[in-house]
Parts: sequence; C-alpha cells; structure tokens
Amino acid sequence: MSELLVTEIFRSIQGESSWAGYPCTFVRLTGCPLRCRWCDTAYSFSGGKPYSIAQIVDEVARLGVPLVELTGGEPLAQKQAPELINALLQKGYKVLLETGGSESLAELPPGVHIIMDIKCPGSGMTDRMNGNNLKLLKASDEIKFVVSSREDFLWACRTILDFALDKKFPLLFSPAWGLVTPQDLTQWILESGFQARLNLQLHKFIWGPRKRGV
Ligand code: SF4
Repeated sequence: MSELLVTEIFRSIQGESSWAGYPCTFVRLTGCPLRCRWCDTAYSFSGGKPYSIAQIVDEVARLGVPLVELTGGEPLAQKQAPELINALLQKGYKVLLETGGSESLAELPPGVHIIMDIKCPGSGMTDRMNGNNLKLLKASDEIKFVVSSREDFLWACRTILDFALDKKFPLLFSPAWGLVTPQDLTQWILESGFQARLNLQLHKFIWGPRKRGV
C-alpha cells in the first residue's frame, strides 16, 4: 500500500497564486531537499505521520472543500505524490501543486495546476533548479519568484526576459516576509512593465506570520 509522510492536513483559504482568497484544503507533505534561507515551513522538513492515499483522500473529503493544494516541504520529494494527485483528480477536486522547482514535473498528470518557484539568488538555492521543468509546465500553470531584495527582483526580471517567461506563463512575485515590503515590491513590479501578479501571503496578514495550520 502506498504511503506518504504528512505534516498536516487542514482547511484554510488559499493565500497565494491566482487562486488566492478561495477556501482550500491543504495537504502538507513532509520533507524537502532544499533549504531556502527565508523558508517559513522548516517544521515540515522532518517528522510527519504516514498516511495511505485513501486516508488522505478521506480526510480531504471530510473537510469538504472542492479546491485542494499539495504543498510542503517539497511535495514532489515523495515519489507517490503523482499517485495522490491522480486520486484527488479522479474524485473531482481541483488540485493545485506548490513546488520549489528542484524536482522533475515529468510524472505529473496534466489535470494538476502547478505553481512552481524559480528560486532567486537570495534563497541560496538557484543552482538546485531543474532546468527541464520549464519545458514541462503548461501555459496555464504559474511561476513564482520569492523576492528577498532588490537584487533578487532584478535577477528575476533578467530571467523572465532570458526565457521569455512573460510570453508563456502567468507570473507571480512574492515578497519574502520581513525582507521586502509589499510597497517596495509593488513599486518594482509597476516600474518593470511586466504584467505580473503581486502575490501576498494572505494567510499571514490574517493570522500572523508564524501560525501553523492556516
Ligand atoms: S523549497 Fe519551500 S519548503 Fe523547501 S526550503 Fe525552500 S521554501 Fe522551504
């Protein structure tokens, strides 16, 4: 029987991406191969409780929300993640996947909506990105840059231009909490001319930056 290590399953609102503001059930899988300097979910790096796919699907059903997000940690660090996504899609859920961009997207079913980070230099993880993933993303998926400095923002702009990302995918810019203000990032987006979405983490504004399970 396929099992995954799960840090938490909870109902909240989606705080980021083009789905921000909608009720959403989160399945936070345990473990991550990266160590972003500004990571806000280090509690998911270890521990966790084993769940079968059927148990996760049952818990998601109990929470009763049609939108489900797999997050982490890094959900794709567990090889059963595509199987879990398939099981949720078959039950009729809209499934979002938050991934840090280091693990291959190759095994994912086409029905999943991917929100993939491209790690800026301030994360310390830029060289861990899987370069093939840009070829595997669908035009409807989203790319997110978490910006921890002006230098990160300028690097993101150059990356967007180098790979024509603004012509291919919806783009999100998030301020790293406590390192860049929403005001500064908004100003930089407006000056850049990119039609990119300011991606604030709504749950932190509502419940504060350190609360778990929201
Ligand atoms: S990829 Fe996500 S969970 Fe992993 S270290 Fe970076 S921010 Fe934290």
